[in-house]
Amino acid sequence: MKTEKLYEKDPFIKEFDAQVISSRFNGKTVEVVLDRTAFFPEGGGQGCDVGMLGGSEVLKTKIVDGEIVHFCGKALPKGAKVKGAIDFPRRLRMMQCHTGEHLTSGLVKSLFGVDNVGFNLSDERVTVDTSGALSEAQIRELEREINRVIRADVQVRAWYPGHHELNSLDIRSKIELKPGVRVVEIEGVDLCACCAPHLSSTGQIGFAHIAESLNYKGGTRMYILFGEDAVRDARERHDALNEVARLFSAKPLEAAQAAKKYVEEKEALERKLAALIKEKLTLRAIELAALKKNPVVFDEELSPKDCVTFCDALMTKSEGLCGAFAPKEGGGFAGVIGKRKGGMKELLPVLRDELLARGGGTDEMFHGTLQADKEKIKSFFGSFS
Ligand SMILES: [Zn+2]
Repeated sequence: MKTEKLYEKDPFIKEFDAQVISSRFNGKTVEVVLDRTAFFPEGGGQGCDVGMLGGSEVLKTKIVDGEIVHFCGKALPKGAKVKGAIDFPRRLRMMQCHTGEHLTSGLVKSLFGVDNVGFNLSDERVTVDTSGALSEAQIRELEREINRVIRADVQVRAWYPGHHELNSLDIRSKIELKPGVRVVEIEGVDLCACCAPHLSSTGQIGFAHIAESLNYKGGTRMYILFGEDAVRDARERHDALNEVARLFSAKPLEAAQAAKKYVEEKEALERKLAALIKEKLTLRAIELAALKKNPVVFDEELSPKDCVTFCDALMTKSEGLCGAFAPKEGGGFAGVIGKRKGGMKELLPVLRDELLARGGGTDEMFHGTLQADKEKIKSFFGSFS
């Protein structure tokens, strides 16, 4: 006996009465088959229903060997009359996302002539991949059209067409259609084969928002939010934008412009600061190079970039071994050692040996760390010839 699929007749059924046809403990859960059920087993890209059955939790529902099996936490005796209740908020969200996906697929086909070639419904969003690339303008148009069809509250119908009717239908589908297949129609928008429960009209989706799009395998990947997901996302984006606007004392819709101006000003200041640092380091380098044959400097204020700038400045004034270092977290020093006429590669084994150097670079400049104390490094530079 095949289980009667109550969810096909009424996708909004939340509770039902049924009789246990079989009940089997599989070592982990109890596999229950009913004479009738509102629990949808996963399919068509939609997840399965969970909920309660005869006082037991239904952890998942799945088709096994052609039968709808409810995986329950507790045993239910064969023949028992039980009440079932599905987790309806979860189901409603899945129906909103799934019906929204049919709507999107129908519209990308009719508007732009591309196919939906991949669909995923996660806990956060719906992912739709198209066979051809969509422009930003097309994505905006698509979003407007999806919401227009939602507002028009178009009827959604699911049925099993006979052989002749099936042949006469213009079904959007990649799979071979066989008699006995169930089709789902969004009137005037989409017609496709699908086994899952859907909403009964597009108005029940509520709202749609294409949150992100990117190039994907020659087409476009869109992350789309429907219903409550879209409302929540809009609220979160709105709050985030308001916070950014407050930081810049700007109106929310002018926040991007204010942020752009801030970044440009920051970059100009950074350029100015870099020029000043370079000037300061060059002056120090001239002084130091006049005093020492192999000048080396240790300064905790030096960034890695400053070390290079300093060493460069030393090398223009000195033909000797030049170094610039900042103390490293955990001991030792990080920085550079340079020589105007080259020879660093040849010197590297000595540096490794005597100053526990680690790093690399060019023949003119070594970049890396020295695991030695300041006095030892100073003495190395002092005796280098
Ligand atoms: Zn479907």
